[in-house]
Amino acid sequence: ADSVWSVEDSLNELGALARTAGAEVVGTMRQRLTHPESATYLGKGRVQELVDIEKQLNCDLIIFDDELSPTQQRNLEKILNARVIDRTALILDIFAQHARSREGILQVELAQMEYRLPRLSGQDVEFTRQAGGSRGATGGVGGAIGVRGPGETKLEIDRRRIRSRISELKEDIEDVRKQRAIHRRQRAAQAMPVIAVVGYTNAGKSTLFNTLTEAGVLAENMLFATLDPVTRHIVLPNHQEILLTDTVGFIHKLPTKLIAAFRATLEEVVEADMLLEVVDISHENAIEQSETVTEILEELEAADKPRVTALNKIDLVDDPDDVDTSLYPNAVPVSALKNQGLDALLETIARVLAESMEEVDILIP
Ligand code: GDP
Repeated sequence: ADSVWSVEDSLNELGALARTAGAEVVGTMRQRLTHPESATYLGKGRVQELVDIEKQLNCDLIIFDDELSPTQQRNLEKILNARVIDRTALILDIFAQHARSREGILQVELAQMEYRLPRLSGQDVEFTRQAGGSRGATGGVGGAIGVRGPGETKLEIDRRRIRSRISELKEDIEDVRKQRAIHRRQRAAQAMPVIAVVGYTNAGKSTLFNTLTEAGVLAENMLFATLDPVTRHIVLPNHQEILLTDTVGFIHKLPTKLIAAFRATLEEVVEADMLLEVVDISHENAIEQSETVTEILEELEAADKPRVTALNKIDLVDDPDDVDTSLYPNAVPVSALKNQGLDALLETIARVLAESMEEVDILIP
């Protein structure tokens, strides 16, 4: 799934993600590894280089673009005098900052807990015993009696706490899902086609969604401004009424675990009648980003749905005539910000929707 992205692009994006999370990027180290070391991910020489860089730049945090195993992460943190995280942890952090609905908040916490569980350190095990008593002491504070065996390690306590939080979260999520299913049925009863807005993070989904619906959805110049789906009712030029639903931003190397965690959110995509993909056509990686969106849609088995592409931010393109619209399905150049091309976009949506409904009529005589 990685083929279309160069190391350079991937790292640039990692930098943008880090800034979105509130970090200041002070340096970058490039390395394409075919065989990562099992203990430290990087080879000895590169680790030493990183130690030197860390000393020189005095940074608090080092972010790896690839996934690190719990052991690699731990070992690197011991060698380096800084916190070490990977892309997954960074994305989780950003998701946590941007979660707005109850469901989103629960899902992010669940994903964070599942990420943390195997990473709890068993190295510096502290044999803490609650109640301040040493092993076998009598007459301590009774709080711990019958709850933990003597000598249970801090690690075991932490693991147990996380496991019980995980099951709590799963139950809560199940409740929210039932609620959503009811909402969805209510929507289906209205018999209005549902169009899901999909697209790469920062492509302008929220802005377009706003412009099209004046819904007042948060739009900010940050990756992941959109996490939770929001649905609005709009009327097309041919008077066809539709429901437009905003979705979470897609991203290159979205960890598989996260795709699973956000499946409920992405159900909006799976159940939609049509997709409106927003592409930031002014971005140098517009094609790669759209490719990533299609790959994720394929994983969701939603790539074959009728699709209209809004080639957004056309106002930033020097020569709009140079834009090759044939590279994207039913493409319409627009500027969500400057209100350009939106009538043409709505007309295209109406046309593609009408065509897809005709197809359905033919299939079901
Ligand atoms: P999302 O992550 O896909 O929901 O993206 P947003 O809607 O939050 O937009 C990301 C950034 O792009 C924001 O700073 C928007 O103001 C900006 N943006 C969105 N649409 C346009 C556009 O048509 N032209 C320009 N110049 N900027 C835009």
